[in-house]
Order: sequence, then structure tokens, then C-alpha cells
Amino acid sequence: MAETLFPAPPAVLLRLDGRPERFPVHRIYCVGRNFADHAAEMGATVDRGQPVFFMKPADAAFHPDRGVPYPAATQDLHHEVELVVALGRDAEGPLDPATAAGLVVAWTVGLDLTRRDLQARAKERRLPWDTAKGFDASAPLGELVPAEAGMPAPGQALWLEVEGEVRQRAPLSQMIWGMADILVELSKLFRLRAGDLVFMGTPAGVGALSPGDRLRAGLGDRTLLETRVLARRPGD
Ligand code: MN
Repeated sequence: MAETLFPAPPAVLLRLDGRPERFPVHRIYCVGRNFADHAAEMGATVDRGQPVFFMKPADAAFHPDRGVPYPAATQDLHHEVELVVALGRDAEGPLDPATAAGLVVAWTVGLDLTRRDLQARAKERRLPWDTAKGFDASAPLGELVPAEAGMPAPGQALWLEVEGEVRQRAPLSQMIWGMADILVELSKLFRLRAGDLVFMGTPAGVGALSPGDRLRAGLGDRTLLETRVLARRPGD
């Protein structure tokens, strides 16, 4: 095997509840505007014709056991709590809904952290969202729950508390595009692979986070993510 110029970066490895194996991350896809009430709060109208997709770098994913860094270059870091599904097998080209659902090996709850000020400027100028969405440590995630232990039900609520106060809470049935629909649409655009994560969109109630904030997020009566926002680095 050819030597590498420097050590190849290792894959991000996520924990699976009750299993000794780790989940190696390949790519992170995200869906925008998948809850009508959140699209409305962002001043957008929802187009059922085509979901909005964007990506984060794979190494933005992490378990925030030691907290969530407050990123540089923003004065308005926002939380977006989301259902995240993890694929355990490669897709062979475009998918049908039943095959798509079968690729999901695990799920969890994560935060699509957003530099809202940079996103607002990008939207104004019709520029890409990468600096707003794809920064380092922009995808804190809970431990993955194996699909064999049960998939989320539509009636279950996705929720986020900040400092003990509920900021976001909505049943998954309010998603405009369901989990399988999203995977079908993504598979028309990208070759989906084992290791891919898909953030399924956030409900209304997004808002600013401050250094020191304690966060708790989950689905139904299960807490999957518990962390806090770290202090800003001097000079950021
Ligand atoms: Mn989002």
C-alpha cells in the first residue's frame, strides 16, 4: 500500500447504545425547512416539490461529552434540534421508500448548530451557507440507538431544553418529508453509503445559545444528549 504524506485522518467514530462496535462517519447530509412552523419562523414558504439539502463535513460530528465549543466568527450561535438517522449499508443507485428505510441502522438526536448571523448575510446575498452551517464541531450528537431496538414513532416528540426551559418540541409527524422520503430524494442526488448521517430538519423555536448554557435533548421520554456550551476562546 502507498505511504501517505502524513497520517491519514481517522474517521469520526460514534457510540452505539448497548453495542461494543462504533459507527464510522462517512458524510453528513442535512435537510432544511422540513417543519412548516420552522420554515415560517425563518420567513420562508415551504415548497413540497423539493427538499432543501446541504452538508456538513464528516469531522463536524462528535459526542459533546466535554461540552460544545462556542465557534469563532459569530455573535449569534443557534440551536436546531433534529432527528438524525445513520445508514449501515450502501445504496445501489436511486432508492425506493422500502429499500431506503432498510438502510437505516441507527438513529439519534443531534444539533444542527448554525451561525445565524452568517446565514442571514449569505441569504441576503444569495451566497452558499457553508460558513453558517459547516464549521468545526457544528454537529453534536447523542449516542446512536440501534434500529433493532426500535425506530422513532411519528407520535414521538423531538425536544430541546436550554437551562431547563423547553425551547423546541414537536412530534415527528409534523415533518413535511418523512425519513424514507428524504433518503429517496437524497439518493437521486448522491450515492448514499454506509456511514452517512442524515439530519432530518428542525421544528420551530430555534434560538441563540450562550456560553455556559446547559442543554438537554431527546425524543419522547428518552434523553439522548446532555451537554453545555463552553466559554468563548479569547479573541474570537
Ligand atoms: Mn437544520
